[in-house]
Amino acid sequence: MQPDQLIALDRAHLIHPVSPWRTHEERGPTILSSGRGAYLTDANGNELLDAFAGLWCVNIGYGQQSVVEAAARQMSRLPYATGYFHFSCEPAIELAAKLVELAPASLRHVYFSLGGSDAVDSAVRFITCYYNATGRPAKKQFISLERGYHGSSSFGAGLTALPAFHRGFDLPRQEQHYIPSPYPYRSPVGNDGAAVIAASVAALRAKVAALGAENVAAFFCEPVQGSGGVIVPPKGWLKAMRDACRELDILFVADEVITGFGRTGPMFACEHEGVEPDLMTVAKGLTAGYAPMGAVLMSDAIYAGIADGTPRGVPVGHGMTYSAHPVSAAVALEVLRLYQEGGLLANGQAVERHFAEGLQALMAHPLVGDARHLGLLGALELVSDKASKRGFDPALGLSDRLFAAGYRNGLIYRAFGDNILGFAPALCYTAEDFELMFARLKKALDEVLEAPDVRKALA
Ligand code: PLP
Repeated sequence: MQPDQLIALDRAHLIHPVSPWRTHEERGPTILSSGRGAYLTDANGNELLDAFAGLWCVNIGYGQQSVVEAAARQMSRLPYATGYFHFSCEPAIELAAKLVELAPASLRHVYFSLGGSDAVDSAVRFITCYYNATGRPAKKQFISLERGYHGSSSFGAGLTALPAFHRGFDLPRQEQHYIPSPYPYRSPVGNDGAAVIAASVAALRAKVAALGAENVAAFFCEPVQGSGGVIVPPKGWLKAMRDACRELDILFVADEVITGFGRTGPMFACEHEGVEPDLMTVAKGLTAGYAPMGAVLMSDAIYAGIADGTPRGVPVGHGMTYSAHPVSAAVALEVLRLYQEGGLLANGQAVERHFAEGLQALMAHPLVGDARHLGLLGALELVSDKASKRGFDPALGLSDRLFAAGYRNGLIYRAFGDNILGFAPALCYTAEDFELMFARLKKALDEVLEAPDVRKALA
């Protein structure tokens, strides 16, 4: 089909995730047609360097033939096997065991979902079931972070604390509560790491006290807040929150949907601080986007609470037709092999300094107020006044212009609504890829800066 035809059909029929529907109809889609390594080609033949790994998921880069072959082998051998009625299949079993081997030691059991939203949703259902099964049915209140993102299921979108996911959807629910983000650049307690951590712990304690610990089920957080603007907490924050949850007798859930699988350096971000969560959600890098899959991992205590609290022979009523899908599991096993034996995790760690240096160098740019990263997950925050950290008038429509400038210069990144640029380069990036990425990024920023209305906003 010709690009024009595709565009017309897309406008007419395809609903895009988290998009302004009418604006999309007017604008039309940007159609991508192929990818290799860190590079994409669009339907007009433009080659683009992807600095966002698709949607922070294609951690291994595009075109990894061994993954394609693993999927094809599994498809021809057994394309589907249900996990219902006690059936199982080899790749799902191997993958569950492998994840338990790789994950923090507290996590011993795995339920597979199709992505991150339903991993979070499954975690909520299991937590609810756990407290009911263990005789504490009042523990039903959930706490998460402002600017947090935990997907867009009916309940998860209320753990998410971003206005677009609440507006028009009757969220948050009354059992969903937020505490401020550990956001060093904009924290009211300043940029001091220890103060930011102390403020978060105090906020969690205060929220639990207000709700009554006997009513609080869990605290959900991302080790680095992704969709809220790549907010990197100070070192020690995750451990402090984990410890506070233990002390407050509430469950600690690490949502590693973005941060898992080498994105921040180690296999999981929890490893930076030796954190052992009660539950952990993963997706994205698990299959690197080559097939849909997510998972929720849980501790022995949660598993046993549900298993032993459910009458013998009675099913635990949570399931999905495609849970532990054999093709996705075969893909994930090969992706994990590429991270480990294939050297991609090590490469990501080795090239991190190029990412860090490139971001840091752009602090000198007139538009850049903050540069932050952990591993290969990073952001630039653009401001109109570096001293006061003032942003830009939304009427300038800067984020769309920033995205367009990147694209014109052959670079894809995330341009958040509040003028934060998000980056998540694939772990296969080379030093040369970073050189090109930052050259293109600087050009894009310079172009935006040249616009008279932007210059005026800076004055
Ligand atoms: N949790 C986090 C931290 C995420 O970043 C995302 C997606 O970006 C999700 C959950 C939802 O995952 P999915 O989009 O696969 O449903």
